[in-house]
Amino acid sequence: MNTPEVSVIIPVYNEEDGLQALYGRLYPALDALNTSYEVIFVNDGSRDRSAALLREQWEKRPDVTRVILLAANAGQHMAIMAGFEKCRGQIVVTLDADLQNPPEEIGKLVAKMREGYDCVGSIRQNRRDSAFRRYASQAMNRLRERITHIKMTDQGCMLRAYARPLIDAINSCHEVNTFIPALAYTLAQNPTEIEVAHEERHTGESKYSLYSLIRLNFDLMTNFSVVPLQAFSMTGIIISLLSAFFVVFLVIRRLMVGPEAEGMFTLFGIAFFLIGLTLFGVGMLGEYVGRIYQQVRHRPRYIIGAVLER
Ligand code: UDP
Ligand code: MG
Repeated sequence: MNTPEVSVIIPVYNEEDGLQALYGRLYPALDALNTSYEVIFVNDGSRDRSAALLREQWEKRPDVTRVILLAANAGQHMAIMAGFEKCRGQIVVTLDADLQNPPEEIGKLVAKMREGYDCVGSIRQNRRDSAFRRYASQAMNRLRERITHIKMTDQGCMLRAYARPLIDAINSCHEVNTFIPALAYTLAQNPTEIEVAHEERHTGESKYSLYSLIRLNFDLMTNFSVVPLQAFSMTGIIISLLSAFFVVFLVIRRLMVGPEAEGMFTLFGIAFFLIGLTLFGVGMLGEYVGRIYQQVRHRPRYIIGAVLER
């Protein structure tokens, strides 16, 4: 187990109802691979019995199980980072705990990795999420495609495999707010994608509220692109040019037609739009500055409370 071929990293946040079902499918699927493996569960500061259940599982299968207990909720991506820093495998697979990613698909990823790729992404076939989630995620995939140089089909699917050198590269980054699949793609030299099955959440509800989904997408966009900022300078240039033409037009009109005082509400409309745009620009700037601030403070990204391992 010191250097297994495969490490599977699973972030766990309040998943007490689904863990048994996960064990029931995960271990047989890994045994079927006929290779050495380790499973690393990262308890992301769960407030339910998840930590106790993970400890039980570790006591049952200490030969292939390790558990990292984070002291507080650090978020899915930071939990996976904690797993990356502790894992020892040559092929590192990430998986959600809610069985939306079927553990039986790990074999496909491992087989693809053995062909020599350093990053195997995945595309969810028949994605089983709400229509809102599917459309929003399609739109975000398209936006990311346009404003970053990252080419991947389905950024949201966390069932992915990474090679040891790529994991070492990711571990050397120390990014505070990051989006792991995108970070991996920017560092990967030979990535590929495969299609994987997708299931409905086994029990419980998504741990992402609309708010945390928006925050996550800001992490993705701001970490891998400055185009959102540049969009404001470009919009500023265009608006200044248009305003200049408009002033020239008003001067000519003033000389030829005379003074005007109508169109008050049109003016309000335009003014409100521009104020909204300015506020959004300031907010966008804040998104970047806030992240720079968090990064330069050099606080630990997550605190490990305990590690259960032999
Ligand atoms: N998760 C986590 N920390 C969080 C939120 C989620 O470790 O703050 C874990 C969660 O337990 C699950 C995975 O991340 O294993 C994906 O979460 P979820 O299924 O709720 O997200 P969705 O599938 O709705 O995108
Ligand atoms: Mg899920």
